[in-house]
Amino acid sequence: ELYNKVLELKGNIRVFCRCRPLNTEEIAAGSVMTIDFESAKDSELTVMSNGAPRKTFKFDAVFGPQADQADVFKDTAPFATSVLDGYNVCIFAYGQTGTGKTFTMEGTNEARGVNFRILEELFRTIKEREKLYRYDISVSVLEVYNEQIRDLLVVGSQPGATSKRLEVRQTGEGIHHVPGLVEAPVSNISEVWEVLQTGSNARAVGATNANEHSSRSHCLHCVMVKGENLLNGEHTKSKLWLVDLAGSERVAKTEVQGERLKETQNINRSLSALGDVISALATKSPHIPFRNSKLTHLLQDSLGGDSKTLMFVQVSPNENDLSETLCSLNFASRVR
Ligand code: ADP
Ligand code: MG
Repeated sequence: ELYNKVLELKGNIRVFCRCRPLNTEEIAAGSVMTIDFESAKDSELTVMSNGAPRKTFKFDAVFGPQADQADVFKDTAPFATSVLDGYNVCIFAYGQTGTGKTFTMEGTNEARGVNFRILEELFRTIKEREKLYRYDISVSVLEVYNEQIRDLLVVGSQPGATSKRLEVRQTGEGIHHVPGLVEAPVSNISEVWEVLQTGSNARAVGATNANEHSSRSHCLHCVMVKGENLLNGEHTKSKLWLVDLAGSERVAKTEVQGERLKETQNINRSLSALGDVISALATKSPHIPFRNSKLTHLLQDSLGGDSKTLMFVQVSPNENDLSETLCSLNFASRVR
């Protein structure tokens, strides 16, 4: 309850910053950490350049290289309760390629990320509430690449399957949805794991370079929750979006041509549309430009209104990444 009050005060948008550790190549190359986490417990970090402090940022939480998946999830778990209480929730990972967006959201089999953990928390809470509420949960997994939506549960279901052309539509009640998108019903956490794996494996299908493709597309999970209050018969319907965004690194237009240029423009367009929407919401602007990209159009019901948004801004500790790190931190400050 206290948590929800805090969220309200902050206009329902929270930003957590997470920095990965230096990797073995960076350590071998003698790289120096460009971020100081001395005041991380106060949710602050300081970007250093040439050994001197350059800029300090404050977020709702700061996770340095030592923070593990459980530490990060501890502050994320309350969003599961919000969804079961009928709120729409959207959780993103934003940042340069290689900073740990996929690690935070998807994680690895040994160190599972937010996607799995929040569903685990949903089922744990559903069990806790079983005398008072009944819930139906289903999951969709999709990708937005070059402003086109691809159903990853279709692509991942059988070899050679392709997703048909999917579009965002609005129902009479004003709900945004994607007709034809597979919604897989899940009733326990092992079924969830299967669905997440299917979606994750499908991301690589049809791509010549799987890694490159995943850094140039947005991967989205939509968890649909239908609730029934067993005492008064009231129904709730809510959505939880879990979004692993395309890499935010700036690509010089002179470096790319043809298909790559189109890709780059689409990524820039959708990430800046997302920034515009969130900052318009944060400043309570009367016009929120949801229609400027597939991404924001898809997420429309879960951004703004009484929905809750969490953005992970992911950064690298490597001094060579300093300018991208500053860009990401500035982007995240703008939406907060
Ligand atoms: P992105 O999705 O942003 O491109 P990845 O999630 O693929 O980045 O992370 C790049 C690499 O760094 C991966 O090998 C990943 O396992 C590792 N990594 C990222 N964040 C962490 C972390 N907090 N702790 C340990 N390893 C991490
Ligand atoms: Mg990734």
